[in-house]
Amino acid sequence: MYLLDIHTHSIASGHGSTDTIADLARTAASRGLKLLGVSDHAPSTMCAGTTSYFRGLAMAPRRRFGVELLYGVELNILDYAGHVDLDAVTLSSLNYAIASMHRPNLRAGSIKQNTSAYIGAMKNPYVSVIGHCDDTRYPVDYGALVAEAASSHVLLEINNSSLSPDGYRGDTRDNIRRILQLCKAAGHPVLLSSDSHGREHIGDFSCIEPLLRECRFPEELIINHSPASLKRFLIRE
Ligand SMILES: [Zn+2]
Ligand SMILES: [Zn+2]
Repeated sequence: MYLLDIHTHSIASGHGSTDTIADLARTAASRGLKLLGVSDHAPSTMCAGTTSYFRGLAMAPRRRFGVELLYGVELNILDYAGHVDLDAVTLSSLNYAIASMHRPNLRAGSIKQNTSAYIGAMKNPYVSVIGHCDDTRYPVDYGALVAEAASSHVLLEINNSSLSPDGYRGDTRDNIRRILQLCKAAGHPVLLSSDSHGREHIGDFSCIEPLLRECRFPEELIINHSPASLKRFLIRE
């Protein structure tokens, strides 16, 4: 039973979705989730949230429709040193931050450059999760990534939308198998994410499940079973 999904987007991310945080929370409740994290795109994404939007979330309700709400952000990694697009003061006001690579904001580099960008982002004390590092367009050294995630106490995400038939990150299955095998060997948990833009895919990890079975991935290393375990990875509750 999966109890949480913390990579989701509301109307504030642009991309044409018109669903509000309330819509997302209502859907999360109807699907049995106990905890929903809203992680709208950070300011470098076109038409996404502004710094003032993220700062204002400190005043937003912590519970809707019986679901606990956490407010985060999906940051853009901007360079191969792993710099991101929100300042420390704003990040400190949020519950968590996911750091991801997106095409308009970071040109794909060599394996060494891409790996260095993720590792730099993981060293940022406000980054709790690395988003969709399965992306075939940004090749990385997964051994180095998992080792850094374990030592920096950061979660690597397994992204359902990457695997969906309309996914646009290439065939990510081999990369996801690699992440799962390395995390299993290291005893380091993974985070399953829907990356739902709007309410439609909230809590949907159905494209990931066959790979979890194939890799015999241990249930106890799937952090979506335990909000309390997840919170130990986040900036603050
Ligand atoms: Zn993303
Ligand atoms: Zn996203």
